[in-house]
Amino acid sequence: MKSLQSVRGMHDILPSDVAAWQWLEERVATLMDRYGFAEIRIPLVEKTELFTRAIGQGTDVVEKEMYAFDDRNGDSLCLRPEGTAGVVRAVLQHGLLNPPGLKVWYSGPMFRHERPQKGRQRQFHQTGAEVFGLDAPAVDAELIALGTRLWRELGIERHVELELNSLGDRDDRARYREALVAFLEPVRDQLDEDSRRRLETNPLRIFDSKVPTTQALLESAPRLIDHIGDGAREHFRSLTDMLDAEGIAYRINPGLVRGLDYYCRTVFEWTTTALGAQGTICAGGRYDDLVEIQGGKPTPGIGFAMGMERLLELVKAEGKQFANDPHAFLLGTEPVAARLGLAEALRDSWPGLRLVTDLQGGSFKAQFKRADRSGARLALVLGEQELEAGTVSVKDLKGDAPQETVARQALGDWLCRYFDGGVHSPSK
Ligand code: ATP
Ligand code: MG
Repeated sequence: MKSLQSVRGMHDILPSDVAAWQWLEERVATLMDRYGFAEIRIPLVEKTELFTRAIGQGTDVVEKEMYAFDDRNGDSLCLRPEGTAGVVRAVLQHGLLNPPGLKVWYSGPMFRHERPQKGRQRQFHQTGAEVFGLDAPAVDAELIALGTRLWRELGIERHVELELNSLGDRDDRARYREALVAFLEPVRDQLDEDSRRRLETNPLRIFDSKVPTTQALLESAPRLIDHIGDGAREHFRSLTDMLDAEGIAYRINPGLVRGLDYYCRTVFEWTTTALGAQGTICAGGRYDDLVEIQGGKPTPGIGFAMGMERLLELVKAEGKQFANDPHAFLLGTEPVAARLGLAEALRDSWPGLRLVTDLQGGSFKAQFKRADRSGARLALVLGEQELEAGTVSVKDLKGDAPQETVARQALGDWLCRYFDGGVHSPSK
C-alpha cells in the first residue's frame, strides 16, 4: 500500500530542525517576560462566527482562507487563522480586562487555506503580543521597542525595516472611504476582479491587493494618512516622536492598510527583502474597536503577530548554527546494565550533560560507528579492563587527542572541566 503524505502546506518539523525552533521560542518567551507580558494558551478551534465577526467580511482570511467545518453537532467551527480574535474572546470570557493594562502573549500554529509557496504555508506558526485597556501612544512605542529589541537579539536587525502608518479613527476611515471610491470608480475597469468586488464591500482592502496593475493605480490615490482627524494625528505624531527619541528607524508607508478589519490608528509591519516575495515577518496595530465588536465594553487594544517560519529563515540566512549534539556517547562490553548504572549516576550529578548510551551492544567497531553517527564529541568506553579497574576510557571523536583513562569517581569532574562547566545545568 502506498504510504500517506502530510496535508499540502502543512509541514513536519523534524528533529534536526527542532533545536533552531527551541532556540527561537526560548528567546521570544524570555523577551516577553522581560517586558511584563504573561503567556496565554487558547484553543486551536473556535466558533467560526468569532472570526467572521472580528476579522470582517471582505478580507482574504474570511473570504478565502478559513478552515471552517461543521462538527458532529452541526456547529460551525474553525481552525484558528490568527490569534487575536481568540485572545479577545478569552480575556472577555474570563473577565481579565479589569484593571486596564493586561499584557499577554501567545504562540502556536495557525491555519489558512491559501496557495502554498515559499514563505506561505497552510499550517504556520505565529507568536503574538496584545495589550488591553491602554490608549496612550507610549504603549505603541513600547511594543515597537520590544520588536526592535527582538530582531537585535536574534541577530537579524540589519535585514528588517519598520513600516508605519495611521488608519485614523472610524469616522476618518468612513470619510476616506468616500474619497477612495470617488477616485477608483472611474477606473474600475482597470482593477482586478477581487478589487472590483471590494469597491462595493470594503474599498480599503483594495490596498491589500498584490496585483501590480492595481498597485500602480493606487499610487496616485488619495492617502488615508491625509484624511485622519486631530486625535489620530496627534497620537501618530507623539508615537513617531518617541521612536525618534529612542533611535528606532521607521518609514511611513501611506499604502499600509492591514488586511484585518479591526485595526485603527497605528499600524505597522516589519519587512525584509532577504526572503523573496513573502517579506513581512511581523505585523500589527491598534484595534480600539475590537473588544466592543466582540461584545465587551469599549476597550482599546494593540498587538502584533510574527511569522515564526519566516523569522527562522532569516536567522538561518545569517548563518547561525543550532547544534544540540550529545556531549558524550557511552559504549562498552556486556552487560549493558553497567553502562546504564554509570549513565544514571552521571545524569544525577550533571543535569546539563547530553549523554547517549549504546543500548544495542555488539562489537566495539559497531558501537564506535554509532558513536560517530550520534555527533557526540566524546566516546566514553566501559570495556572489561575499565570495569575491572573502576575507570572509564575517554576518546575524542572529533579530534585526535590521545585517549585518556579517568577514574570512574572522577569522570564527572573531568567532563565538567572538559566542557567548561557546560554540563552543570540544562543548556538553553
Ligand atoms: P500577507 O499579506 O502576506 O498575506 P497577512 O496580512 O495575511 O500577510 P498577518 O495576518 O498579518 O499576515 O500575519 C502576521 C504574520 O504571519 C505575517 O507577517 C507572516 O509573517 C505570517 N504569516 C501569515 N500568513 C502566513 C502563511 N500562510 N504562511 C507563513 N507565514 C504566514
Ligand atoms: Mg494573508
